[in-house]
Amino acid sequence: MTRLDSAQWQRLMDYLRDHHAGICRQWFEELEPVAMDSGLLEIQTSTNVQQNYLQNKCLEPFNEAAQHATGALIAVRFVSETTRARTADTKQPALVGEGVAPSGSFGVPRPLPDHLAGSYDADQMVLSPDYSFDNFISGPNNRLAYAAAVAVADQPGVAYNPLFIHGGVGLGKTHLLQAICQKILNANPDHHILYVSCDAFMNQFFECVRSGQMSEFHQRYRHVDMLVIDDIHFLADKERSQEEFFHTFNELYQHNKQIVLSSDAAPNEIPKLEERLISRFNWGLVAQVGRPCFETRIAILKAKAELRGAEVPHEVLEFIASRIDSNARELEGAMTNLIGHAKLQGQAIDLGLAREMLGAEVPTPRNNQVTLQAIIDAVTAFYNVKLQDLQSRRRHKSITEPRQVCMWLARKNTRFSLEEIGGYFGGRDHTTVMHSIKTVDERCEKNPTYAAQVSQLNSQIQQPE
Ligand code: ADP
Ligand code: MG
Repeated sequence: MTRLDSAQWQRLMDYLRDHHAGICRQWFEELEPVAMDSGLLEIQTSTNVQQNYLQNKCLEPFNEAAQHATGALIAVRFVSETTRARTADTKQPALVGEGVAPSGSFGVPRPLPDHLAGSYDADQMVLSPDYSFDNFISGPNNRLAYAAAVAVADQPGVAYNPLFIHGGVGLGKTHLLQAICQKILNANPDHHILYVSCDAFMNQFFECVRSGQMSEFHQRYRHVDMLVIDDIHFLADKERSQEEFFHTFNELYQHNKQIVLSSDAAPNEIPKLEERLISRFNWGLVAQVGRPCFETRIAILKAKAELRGAEVPHEVLEFIASRIDSNARELEGAMTNLIGHAKLQGQAIDLGLAREMLGAEVPTPRNNQVTLQAIIDAVTAFYNVKLQDLQSRRRHKSITEPRQVCMWLARKNTRFSLEEIGGYFGGRDHTTVMHSIKTVDERCEKNPTYAAQVSQLNSQIQQPE
């Protein structure tokens, strides 16, 4: 067995930074080439989560870089310190299969029939090392959710059960769910965590019903230490899935197994969700994540830049934070773009570049000064409603009408996407926003008084006093 020499390793990392900057993270510095044998390069990670992530998400670029660095046909395989230690102890292979989670860790809790195992593996969500508590910025908008998530990770099944985190898109729900999984797994790699999307839960359920494999489904979902389901609001309207989830929930809960859920709306605001599920979701802790304030936005941008090893002047962080106030995902997108552009153009990140880029992102030469706040101020005053109502699930005409006008104005005057607008006004999806815009347009055509009101609001928000 040989090793990669340090010059080759350096070339490999340089190649990644030059050709695949998007995947590079600060923690890549902890990676270590530990063995090279028969065209197979083993790279060691500090944690199982890093190992599983790299093996599933970054293998291709690493293979390419290894081949470039050595001039030979080399394949990369990631191993974690823990699995290597176990291999040494038990003489078991470090990895089970290829591109599959290490045994005994986050991955496949119980053996399954072959025909099911494949699809389960594919559905299992891969944890991103980016989504750790260390990388999460807590602020007034998410303090409770953050504290509860940490408490659950410290004492699963004890602190809050279930933990239910809700809020609009890009506000950190998935990040918190994954941070909980990672903290638990880093402390105890044998903890059996099942982390899936709600879609995967429903698909697997129907697949098992179809193929008469319900006992495997129960085995899979009811014998875990912790069940984490992202975007549980997709259960809305799905009666049979709700029924199945109800029993899964009960079984786990009775055995003090932790359940963590995320949703775009609070339990009682998920449309057509059975009462018995609503009440169970409220048994533990329901915590909302909201939009980040200015200071939190700056801190998020700073964290995202550091994760990518980029130095960004404070004035640039401030500039982006003042231009983007929707959610962390948008902030991160802007930061990634900025870093990418600076690298491409071989220049430092400065205010000029940020202006150039964020300016170019505006789709049409609309009035960019219009803020959501101006829209909300104008609409709530005109219709005499509260923002809270606009952001709720209430469907009374006295609320839906101003809400539709808000969406229409936001679409016409800001660069927020349909998804973001929907997310802001009560976690609605983009089709609802499209429908609202169409409704306002149609009503304007039919009703001149209404059209004049909308037009007046439109002018008002463009020239706020
Ligand atoms: P959601 O699931 O609520 O739609 P995500 O958890 O996917 O949102 O977050 C979108 C992006 O924003 C992710 O890259 C995530 O790391 C980042 N993000 C969200 N909130 C925060 C936060 N408070 N601190 C750091 N990053 C955050
Ligand atoms: Mg999410």
